[in-house]
Amino acid sequence: NHEIHLVKRPEAAPTHEHFEMVESEKPEPGEGEVLVKMLYVSVDPYMRGRMNDTKSYIAPFELNAPIEGGAIAEVTHSKASHLSEGDIITGMLPWKEYAVAKADSLRKIDPSLGPVTTSLGVLGMPGLTAYFGLMDIGQPKEGETIVVSGAAGAVGTTVVQIGKIVGCRVVGIAGSDEKTSYLKDELGVDETINYKKENVYEALQKACPDGIDVYFDNVGGDISDAVYPQLNKFARITQCGAIASYNVPNDQGPRMQMHLIKSSALIKGFTVGDYQDRFKEGFDELSKWLKEGRLTYEETVVEGFENIPDAFFGLFEGSNLGKQLVKVAEP
Ligand code: NDP
Repeated sequence: NHEIHLVKRPEAAPTHEHFEMVESEKPEPGEGEVLVKMLYVSVDPYMRGRMNDTKSYIAPFELNAPIEGGAIAEVTHSKASHLSEGDIITGMLPWKEYAVAKADSLRKIDPSLGPVTTSLGVLGMPGLTAYFGLMDIGQPKEGETIVVSGAAGAVGTTVVQIGKIVGCRVVGIAGSDEKTSYLKDELGVDETINYKKENVYEALQKACPDGIDVYFDNVGGDISDAVYPQLNKFARITQCGAIASYNVPNDQGPRMQMHLIKSSALIKGFTVGDYQDRFKEGFDELSKWLKEGRLTYEETVVEGFENIPDAFFGLFEGSNLGKQLVKVAEP
């Protein structure tokens, strides 16, 4: 059995020196617990924040202990009444090939809703983040213009599609031509901007002749600096993420608040957990759209337990189109 530990806290970008693969005994489940075999591990940008020893909405990872995150696994031994051998579950699990977990903390996946991996993407945390962040905070109205940064990632690809479902003009910003083509050709995004090649401010002026009503921000940094001056009166900003700042200690930028005054814009941060009481609503809506073929998704899958850190680093380099997963084993 192998597990992956955080052994050093990164100050800037995480690298292999911060992680270590450790051998361990296969654990034994106690009463109410199950032994599970890891099948898929989700790597997510928010995990970078948990590597810092700072107070946040979620506790920091401990040093010299396995990292923990969203995962899909198969029950191989059950000491809990409601889970049996062979069940495929999802939940927060330590990065271990075999792990013991409290059965109450796990959810059995309904395979009729789609491939099991959707429970870590479009029908999981990123999908719900897109749904509530756009619908509840963004309040998009038909005919309005939505700009999405980080548009080709797990959250972004869902946001742009919901934007089209509700009848908006959608502009997606991403970091490669492959990504912008995917957004246009496969997801029906109206205009795209490759921020690594184009002047984002000027490209937005062209792509948004009527200004910007909703800004769904996954990225922050320079891209947001280009968006704020182009906000329409009473624009809404969903502050979902700020990945451009996660590896920059004490990041500071130009002061953009004045643009919020002249546009009377509303900016609101959130964590998807704020919507826990409404998860069923979001889940039902997303699964309905998926079933009707109005919503689709993309996954980038890296193979091998030992490659989890590399897949995680890739999030900060833009290696992923859609949801980044690591496949650890076959069921
Ligand atoms: P993604 O699948 O979008 O992966 C991250 C993407 O960010 C990369 O593919 C890359 O795409 C882009 N990126 C990386 N570094 C930079 C940079 N310096 N500048 C601009 N773009 C960059 O991840 P998720 O969909 O899981 O998450 C998206 C965002 O939403 C993150 O900021 C995350 O923290 C946040 N989030 C917030 C939640 C909440 O509850 N508020 C819940 C889930 C996610 P590219 O090639 O385009 O650069």
